[in-house]
This record gives sequence, structure tokens and C-alpha cells, in this order.
Amino acid sequence: MAASEQPFQLSEATDQAMRQCVHCGLCLSSCPTYRELGTEMDSPRGRIYLVRALEENRIDPDEDAGPDVNAMNHLDLCLGCRACETACPSGVDYSEVLEGARAAAYETRLKRCSFTSRTMEKFLLQRVLPSRRLFGAFVGLLNFYNKSGLRELFDGLIPSRLRPLAAKAPELMGKPFHKNSENVYEARGERRGRVCFFSGCVMDGIMGDIHRDTIKVLIAQGIEVVVPKTQVCCGALHIHEGDRATAIALAQKNLWALDQVDGEFDAFVNNSAGCGAHMQKWGRLLADDEQFAEFAAEISAKTMDVTRYLVNKGLLPFPNPYFGAAAYDAPCHLHHAQKETEAPMQLLGEIKKFRLIELPNSDQCCGAAGSYTLTQPEMSERIFMGKLKALQEIKADLVVTGNPGCILQFRQGLARAGLDIEVKHPMQIAAAAAEI
Ligand code: SF4
Ligand code: SF4
Repeated sequence: MAASEQPFQLSEATDQAMRQCVHCGLCLSSCPTYRELGTEMDSPRGRIYLVRALEENRIDPDEDAGPDVNAMNHLDLCLGCRACETACPSGVDYSEVLEGARAAAYETRLKRCSFTSRTMEKFLLQRVLPSRRLFGAFVGLLNFYNKSGLRELFDGLIPSRLRPLAAKAPELMGKPFHKNSENVYEARGERRGRVCFFSGCVMDGIMGDIHRDTIKVLIAQGIEVVVPKTQVCCGALHIHEGDRATAIALAQKNLWALDQVDGEFDAFVNNSAGCGAHMQKWGRLLADDEQFAEFAAEISAKTMDVTRYLVNKGLLPFPNPYFGAAAYDAPCHLHHAQKETEAPMQLLGEIKKFRLIELPNSDQCCGAAGSYTLTQPEMSERIFMGKLKALQEIKADLVVTGNPGCILQFRQGLARAGLDIEVKHPMQIAAAAAEI
């Protein structure tokens, strides 16, 4: 096999994480792609073998002899759901393995895309997501594309990989948050705490209502909320795609923005499982950064899901009942990455007349996984079928889940299946119960 021109080099941290693996295979049955395909190379253990073989130059990342033998395809199929971490008795930090491998393979992976896809992907990740103005313009363009009646004409101009995103635009259109947000939201009644709120990029641009509901719940619980205006995208999508340089630059910008906040805050709260999980790793990402290493570690330690913060604080009673029942689906980046297995249910359990129904295998991935639904649409849909079956079994008419990607995956998947099941964020339920 010809050696690739691009050396596949791993960092010391990634190498260490891989050394933790004792190849026991206890993670295999927890892995969604292994359950679907039954192939070792699509399991966590198999991927660790592949990464080692790439590093030792025993296989070539450019070798493209079909999906069964190309290492990059097997790595690309990984959702990054981290269910393998929960299952692993040896404590393998699989996020380190995956992020390290994707960073090492970043240029090789880009080379495998067409020039248009490569340019578009870089433009979206490096220019659009980090800029509120460009992201807003991008959402507006997608809206126009769908409403213009000229979709077939425009389809030819859009790279095939991005067409599913463009077609989903009408479902993505929510109200933005940032434009109308304030810097500080004062606590209602006696102030019990003060938090910094992270609004992100996708949620900030198209799920502003969920942010407003989150703030409504916090202030009703006696918490002052500070929203740093100059914060930007957290960089989670970038690190998952292997673009480590942009992920580092975004973390630095956010830390600079947080450094401008006057006074102390108890926690850095968020309502997006994917962002929260990534921000908890900023300390690791910036460990060698002369300016921000210490501050990044401090912020990572203070980063938590809004439900965890409120449960730790001690919940004040919710004044209103919420009549209804819902199935709770655990976002992987809350359940497996942040190990938040209880807080959302504890909070929702305090709401009068609201009932949670157990969703079978709620800890398994829904197939959203950041940009996975766009990059691996076939596998994403196969994995979502498990959720569809479970929801039909329990006859749910409402699902709650705390991550924007999961919310969109459920909304689109349920619409495709013609099922009239609502999808909400836990904070939307809590806000209705908190409103006076
Ligand atoms: S469970 Fe952990 S140690 Fe065992 S094969 Fe999987 S990653 Fe390796
Ligand atoms: S992160 Fe998820 S998809 Fe990837 S190897 Fe682990 S369990 Fe499998």
C-alpha cells in the first residue's frame, strides 16, 4: 500500500487515551454503528485499531478501495456519541481518540471532497458559524431557496452534501435570540445566584425562543443571568470535523468575552448538550495556551447544563401545572459526555401534573450527532428508526430532549414518518410552569 504524503500524527494525549484500551470489546454492543453493521471496524475497538494502524503507517488514509477497507470511511461513520465511554471499564477517553484522529486526518479528509464541497465546508465552518451576521444571512438565503419555487434550479449550484440542509431550512426557521437579548436579566424576588449564559450559534440563530424560555426559568428561580454580547460559537462542530485550529480560535474568543464580564458568577450555564460537553473540554483544548490555559480550565469546571445548575441550587416550586405526559430522550452529549443522567428528569419531575414516560433505550443516540445528519444521512436515518419504533411502542405524543441537533432530528424524522408527535426542549415545559 502506498504511503500517504500527509503524515498521520497523533498528540501525546491521543496516544495515551488509546493506550488505555485493553481490547476487551465490552463497548461493542453500546455502539450504534456496530449494532447496525456488525463489523469490527465500525466499533469503538475497531476504530482504535484503525487509528493505530494509520499512525504506524500500516494503512494509507488515501487508499480508496471501497467502504470495507478505507479507514477514513469507518472513522467518518463514528457519531462521536460517546456511548462507548459509558460502557468502557478501562476509562478510555474516546472523545480524545476521535478528536485526535480527525485532527490528524483533517487535510486528508478535505482532499477527498470535491473542490466545491471543500470550499463550502470551510466557508461554513470557518466564516459562517463563527459570525452571527453571516449565520443570519445564511439562514435567510436558505429560506429564500425553499420559498422561491426555484429549488430545482438552485439545487445544481449547491454541493450534494449540503442539499439536505438546504431542503430542511423551513423547519429550521425559528426566531433569533441575540438581536433582542439584553446584557443582564435580573432575578425575580430574592436573588439566589448569578450565572453567565452561553447562547451558541445555531440555537442563537434559530432557536431564540428556547433561550428566552431558559432565561425565564432562571430568573423565576431567583437567578440573575448575564449574557456576554461578544460570545461566539463554541467550536464543537469544528473539533468534531477535525478543524482544531478554528476550535481553538473560537474558544479563545469566548474566553476573552467572558473575561469582560464584571463580577463573579456561580456557573457558566447552557441549554445545548453538545456545546456544554465541548466547553467542558476547553481546559484540555487550551492546556498549552499561554494566555488562557488557567482561565479555560476554570471555565470548563464551571460549565454545566441549566438543569444541573438549578437542581444543585435547590428548585423553588413551579407555580403552574403542565397538563400532559412526555417521553424524555437523553442527548448523548448530556448523558454520556457530561454524565448528566438525572438532572433534567429531576427538574421536570417537580412540575405539577406533568408526567414523564419511560422511552426504551433513551440513552442511545438518535443519529443527529452535530453535522452527521448531513454528512452521513443514510446511517443517521437508520439509527433514528430505533427512536421511531420506541415512540410508537409507548404511544407518546410529546418528546423532550435538551439539544438543538436532537430536536431537529426528531422533528424532521417524525415529519418524514407522518407522525404527529411534538418535540420540545425541557426548558419550554419548565417555562410554561414557571410563568406567573
Ligand atoms: S470497552 Fe474500553 S477497553 Fe474495552 S475495547 Fe472498548 S474501548 Fe477498549
Ligand atoms: S462514539 Fe458512538 S459511534 Fe463512535 S465508536 Fe463510540 S459508541 Fe460508536
